[in-house]
Amino acid sequence: MFRIGIGSDTHRLVADRPLILGGVLIESDHGAEGHSDGDALTHALADALLGALCEADLGAHFPDSDEQWKDADSLQLLARVVWLAHERGFQVGNVDATIMLERPKLRDHIDAMRDNLARTLDVDVACVSVKAKTGEGLDAVGRSEAVSAQAIVLLAANKT
Ligand code: MG
Repeated sequence: MFRIGIGSDTHRLVADRPLILGGVLIESDHGAEGHSDGDALTHALADALLGALCEADLGAHFPDSDEQWKDADSLQLLARVVWLAHERGFQVGNVDATIMLERPKLRDHIDAMRDNLARTLDVDVACVSVKAKTGEGLDAVGRSEAVSAQAIVLLAANKT
C-alpha cells in the first residue's frame, strides 16, 4: 500500500538569524525567523510525511508555544516524524521538494541538503530530490522577505 502527502512552509527573512535549509547552514546576511531553527525545507517535508499519515501538521506535534522546541534542530523534528511513520508500518519511498528563495543561490548546497535529509529519512540519497527557484523579483520571496518550500512524499507500507 502507498500513501502520498504534501507539505509547504514559509518563514519571514530577517537580519541576525541563521539561514538553515535541509539542515545546512548557508552563509547569508538574512535568515529565517521562527521558534525552531526556521528550516522551511525540513518543515515542509515533515508536514508532507504527517499528511501522508493523516497525522495533522507539524504545529500540532511540536507547538511553538512549547519552550522545548525553541531553536530546535528541525532535522530532529523530522526524525521524530520518520519514527512515527516507521511505527505505523511505512517506509519513505521518495521525496521531491522545491525551495523558493531569492538569494543567496543554493546550487552549491543542494547535495549537502539531500545527504542530510536522506540520512534522516532513512533512504538512499537517490530518493531525495531538492530543487531551488527564485521569485524573479516578484512577491515576498522575490523581495527577499520570505523563504518558502514545498514537498511531496511517497510512503510505502512494509511488506509483512
Ligand atoms: Mg516552519
